[in-house]
Amino acid sequence: MVKPVLAIVGRPNVGKSTIFNRIVGERVSIVEDIPGVTRDRIYGSAEWLTHDFNIIDTGGIDIGDEPFLEQIRQQAEIAINEADVIIFLTNGREGVTAADEEVAKILYKAKKPVVLGVNKIDNPDMRDQIYDFYALGFGEPFPISGSHGLGLGDLLDEAAKHFPKHEENQYEDDVIKFSLIGRPNVGKSSLVNAILGEERVIVSNIAGTTRDAIDSLVSINGDKYVIIDTAGMRKKGKVYETTEKYSVLRALRAIERSDVVLVVLDAEEGIIEQDKHIAGYAHEAGRAVIIVVNKWDAVDKDEKTMKEYEEKIRSHFQFLDYAPIVFLSAKTKKRIHTLTPMINMASENHSMRVETSVLNDIIMDAVAMNPTPTDNGKRLKIYYTTQVSVKPPTFVVFVNDPELLHFSYKRFLENRIRDAFGFEGTPIKIFARERK
Ligand code: GDP
Ligand code: GDP
Repeated sequence: MVKPVLAIVGRPNVGKSTIFNRIVGERVSIVEDIPGVTRDRIYGSAEWLTHDFNIIDTGGIDIGDEPFLEQIRQQAEIAINEADVIIFLTNGREGVTAADEEVAKILYKAKKPVVLGVNKIDNPDMRDQIYDFYALGFGEPFPISGSHGLGLGDLLDEAAKHFPKHEENQYEDDVIKFSLIGRPNVGKSSLVNAILGEERVIVSNIAGTTRDAIDSLVSINGDKYVIIDTAGMRKKGKVYETTEKYSVLRALRAIERSDVVLVVLDAEEGIIEQDKHIAGYAHEAGRAVIIVVNKWDAVDKDEKTMKEYEEKIRSHFQFLDYAPIVFLSAKTKKRIHTLTPMINMASENHSMRVETSVLNDIIMDAVAMNPTPTDNGKRLKIYYTTQVSVKPPTFVVFVNDPELLHFSYKRFLENRIRDAFGFEGTPIKIFARERK
């Protein structure tokens, strides 16, 4: 199911990022102490009552050196393109400003629901100040206070009323969804074409939801895949090409809908920070990952080149140590045929379930080999381990005190599980729970 997208729009300083952080909250992640994993602060997932949704802080989208009004305009347009519901945020302490009116003008043209929030209404006495905002023409203004966390419930209730009801295209269980992500010009489109060129039978092109990438349902060597193609979308307009953060946004959503993510690198250009950023998100989202080094044809090489390149990737992407690396060329088609078997492998591992008895034998052996750590004289005791879910494989270890299962010991257990079962291409998650 595709999550609805909410975007916050408004001129600077009205409190967009404050509200965004309030709504997204602190997401605790088991991987956060792994170097190289960074978070995108403009895009997050959130929950409100029974609703799961994604939220964009358009204020965080860097438009470059454009004049002030132009920036606001572009951010609003991104919101209109990307979101199902827009929160138009204003500042109740300053009243309606000319810049608010500019934003309103752009939003009038959108055929998307707009909910008007009046921020910085920190106490009930100030509620009278919201009436001016009716003039903006978006109906009832919702008084809120980002710093105090007031009124957000009513605002989100109103927004949730407008969430689309339709479900995502449901593909059959045997269909593997994958996407190619990477910065512009690494060769994503060329790779899609090269993959499709291989003994393809296109079953259909599916117009996904209105805002999303184009899904192609294809059959390659008898296996069915959905390619979630974001590359082509980029060419849609100026904003799409000039805004780096925006292409990241698009990639993030494709990742969320994928089983397997191909992180595409450009062999000629090497690895840059943006590559790590995107790859980090695929990892955090718990998707299977394959690292694809494209344009291998364009590299001068001897017998050591591939190994050296591989070492470089491993040191930059330590958090992706489970991801296989493939060196290929969309141009010459070299090793293109190895991709789908690798996607199959990663996908199988991503949804693999292991037997509980075997799992517990492995963990017991591990503990015998490397005794559990102590903290302040208290020793970690592991009672029982079980796999609670797939995509990605997730394990719960029942222990005497979860605080005692430190990162390094968790990592050790993960490695033992990997040695025993493989899990190549997929992250695995391990959580500790206190045995009741
Ligand atoms: P943005 O530019 O729209 O993302 O605005 P920020 O979230 O960065 O907020 C701008 C300023 O307004 C910061 O100094 C915030 O602390 C402050 N602010 C945000 N929400 C509130 C609020 O509800 N009440 C008050 N008094 N100040 C707020
Ligand atoms: P995208 O922006 O990631 O979709 O990248 P494109 O597929 O549009 O490719 C960007 C440029 O790289 C184009 O000029 C392609 O011809 C070139 N390119 C793509 N794949 C390869 C490759 O395997 N080898 C070489 N030498 N060039 C490639």
